[in-house]
Amino acid sequence: MELEFYGAIGGVTGSCHIIRCGQYQILIDCGLIQGRRKEEQANHEPFPFNPDELDAVVLSHAHIDHSGRIPLLVKRGYSGPVYTQNATRDLCAVLLRDSASLAERDAKYENKKRAKNGMEAIEPLYTEADAITAWEQMQGLPYRQQTEILPGISIRYQDAGHILGSCMVEMWLSEGNVRRKLVFSGDIGQYDTPILNDPTSIEEADLVLMESTYGNRLHRDRQHTIEEIGEVISSARHEHGNILIPAFSIGRSQELLYLLGTHYDEWELDRWQIFLDSPMAIEASHIYWDYPHLYDEEATKLRSQINEMPHLRNLNLTHAVEESMQINEIKSGAIIIAGSGMCNGGRIVHHLKHNISRHECHVMIVGYQANGTLGRRLVNREDEIKIHGDFYKVNAHIHTVGGLSAHADQKDLLHWASGFSNKPRVFVVHGEAEVKQQFSQLLHDKLQLTASVPQAGDIIELDQI
Ligand SMILES: [Zn+2]
Ligand SMILES: [Zn+2]
Repeated sequence: MELEFYGAIGGVTGSCHIIRCGQYQILIDCGLIQGRRKEEQANHEPFPFNPDELDAVVLSHAHIDHSGRIPLLVKRGYSGPVYTQNATRDLCAVLLRDSASLAERDAKYENKKRAKNGMEAIEPLYTEADAITAWEQMQGLPYRQQTEILPGISIRYQDAGHILGSCMVEMWLSEGNVRRKLVFSGDIGQYDTPILNDPTSIEEADLVLMESTYGNRLHRDRQHTIEEIGEVISSARHEHGNILIPAFSIGRSQELLYLLGTHYDEWELDRWQIFLDSPMAIEASHIYWDYPHLYDEEATKLRSQINEMPHLRNLNLTHAVEESMQINEIKSGAIIIAGSGMCNGGRIVHHLKHNISRHECHVMIVGYQANGTLGRRLVNREDEIKIHGDFYKVNAHIHTVGGLSAHADQKDLLHWASGFSNKPRVFVVHGEAEVKQQFSQLLHDKLQLTASVPQAGDIIELDQI
């Protein structure tokens, strides 16, 4: 009985771990490595295991850094089941298709360059057809139901409160006389976020694999965040400008719509036109509204009162490109939510072009902006930005609203880890290298847990734990 670590080791992306129990091999997550072009090349390398020798794949949630290489696994010979939560399965239909079309676009671009240099064409990482096949192999399970997926191996999903359908995985393993319980935290959500339940506390485990993305940081308090958003809306109204909100399609967009809905009167939103300008975010929102039984108490109550989500009279869902372009005619009174979340592509870039040099406009940054992205340059208050080869002066007000993260901060992570009544052995995964080290030390100092940071290729003998 053993556990081997593959991904989310050097950083936060490419989550992937393998369990061997008896004659079976189970993969937990198979995420895409994301980052600079060079780092992403690693996605094309062979897996350090044989995909057709796997017996099951267990997926924690839909985010591409956890699910994004499942179509590749299938393309390379895996034909078995991929277990996940029901809502995650639905979200994957949207996300994996999108990821495939990006991969196909990348390959096309690369091949144009290669053709010029007389080089051989490359294949896309995977195609839409691979994504569809992978999706067909997904088997949805509800939360809190223990299911035997292989002889001697059962799993139970618990709500991680990170995005819709996100899971912590409890896994019971037995081999001969040895029995072990492993818990994989997946990505852990913040406590008290809109729509979603709090992360579930789990009482017992022999071994825990735990994320630590914000293990060194405390988020801004939620009440302050809400007030901050209200202030941005009010100043933009007085200045007769537009508000642009770059947002990730899954999770953040729905959270924003929910906040706008619940503060509709307070923020005097009937004076605004609100646009969700992203086909993928629109699809994801429909999936969110399809799963009211996964909401927290407040969202459930709201839904039962108004029977529609979100409750925004002046919300425009813009699918077509022409509709999106028409928004650019509006000079005042538009709140535009569009992707990509870090402004490195997508419709938000066009809206920035039309609004960024206007003093009366406001840009609200609500998510993490990685180094090298246009969003990061905005956060850094650069005077001028380059869009599609042209320079634009940044005259609009840039606001960084810090409290809307989908990830638990240090305090939340410690709270979750303190929920175990025994003292499980903890392996800290999914975080920048120094954050993982710091957080692992913190688990030891504050909770007296034995914690460490595994390296890629490390094998843990579970019967020794
Ligand atoms: Zn995630
Ligand atoms: Zn993640």
